[in-house]
Amino acid sequence: MNDTLELPPSLWAATAEPAPPTASLSESVRCDVAIVGAGFCGLRSAIELARAGVSTCVVDSGQIGWGASGRNGGQVNPMGHEAPAVVAKRWGVNEDHEQVRRYTAFTTSAADALFDLVREWQIECDAEQNGWIRGLHSTAAERDFEQLFAGWQAHGAALRMLDRDELEKLSGTRGYQKGWLAAGGGSVQPMSYVRGLARVALESGARIFPESRVTKLKQEGGVWKLSTHRGDITADTVLLCTNGYTDKLFPGLRETIVPVISVQSATPPLSQAQVEEILPQRQTFADTRRVIFYFRKTADNRLVFGSAGSDGNYPGNADRQRIIRGLRTVYPQFPELDIEYLWGGQIAVTLDHLPHVHELDSGLITGLGCNGRGVAMATAMGAQLASWVLNRSPSDLAIPVTPLRKIPLHRFHRMGVRTAVWWQERQDNREAAQ
Ligand SMILES: Cc1cc2nc3c(=O)[nH]c(=O)nc-3n(C[C@H](O)[C@H](O)[C@H](O)COP(=O)(O)OP(=O)(O)OC[C@H]3O[C@@H](n4cnc5c(N)ncnc54)[C@H](O)[C@@H]3O)c2cc1C
Repeated sequence: MNDTLELPPSLWAATAEPAPPTASLSESVRCDVAIVGAGFCGLRSAIELARAGVSTCVVDSGQIGWGASGRNGGQVNPMGHEAPAVVAKRWGVNEDHEQVRRYTAFTTSAADALFDLVREWQIECDAEQNGWIRGLHSTAAERDFEQLFAGWQAHGAALRMLDRDELEKLSGTRGYQKGWLAAGGGSVQPMSYVRGLARVALESGARIFPESRVTKLKQEGGVWKLSTHRGDITADTVLLCTNGYTDKLFPGLRETIVPVISVQSATPPLSQAQVEEILPQRQTFADTRRVIFYFRKTADNRLVFGSAGSDGNYPGNADRQRIIRGLRTVYPQFPELDIEYLWGGQIAVTLDHLPHVHELDSGLITGLGCNGRGVAMATAMGAQLASWVLNRSPSDLAIPVTPLRKIPLHRFHRMGVRTAVWWQERQDNREAAQ
């Protein structure tokens, strides 16, 4: 990997609020806490720590938001991937166990918490909390869809079922049997949001060093030393907030997640007819396909549409064609919908589809595995990691601290994901046609 990394050619990079002034690391520095990763998670931790008077440095290989935080769909989701009963089973406890309750409260409040922060810190990022729609694409997916709805509703998520007609009215598509509306969901311009967090972190007293890849991490005499090409950081505590971009810095961590590529596109600004028919009340939308279609409108009324992909920086023709097929499937009445921007990024997927928190060594902690839901969740995870450092204890965390568990045959993940996407896409199409 290069030490300097360009931003991908995204709509977000082209239209974001300017980044606050920062410079790469050019000398050795000392701080209490060093954070690797200037995305939502790292910067949110930095804000909490710096505000509590802890001297904090954030370092990233690329610019602020270079990772998933500056590339995502900007959908702010108020619930997790798995139903609470499934979460409980994975953790080996009952559904009303305190740990499950803490996790579901953390998840259902994460979207509200994000919009509160945006208001409180006056972050200019086109934030809109108009709700999130989930559309059911096939009868085969109905059982899971119903279980998720009932499970999260019982744990406090504000959800409402939508029949086909109401779903069509709210989305402009007839491609779904029914859906639900999660009132707490919404959207942001993610690059502006992450740059806003960076601005608040700097104002709170944190230091941020972009374009400074950490190449080595070792403990020496009770402190941690992080090496970059042009200087070292010495810190008592280190947070690894590297999620889907986790590299080999800590042995075995990369093998606990699969970096799955997701591709995003943006149309040119929509016509008046399209604006009126597509998501007229400006909710965000994600469907139940295994190879998901998810979309939303932007402040300037473009449609941002995403799905799986194969290149996390410069998607190729196959990725473009999948997006075009998605647009034609969801909005067949607008065959003229076209792509002006196309980019991609890496999502950190875990085998249990839950986020993980680990204590890798004394004073070395990490939280990762947001499974494509990290706009709200990685922001909330950052606050969790900071509270662990400040309270010197992980006992109140919403996510249990677990040992590292490497994914078997991880080195074949690229081939595995490609094969899975190929197979799942065929399944989705077959089921949708039934
Ligand atoms: C295309 C795409 C679409 C998505 N859409 C959505 C969505 O609509 N809604 C949603 O909720 N979530 C979405 N997600 C997921 C969401 O973006 C992530 O969960 C979230 O941004 C993770 O934030 P983070 O701060 O944990 O990690 P990141 O933002 O990925 O930051 C990690 C950083 O670590 C840095 N790093 C890694 N190793 C080193 C090193 N050795 N030295 C220095 N720096 C290092 C990287 O450069 C990177 O910038 C999407 C993700 C992608 C890729």
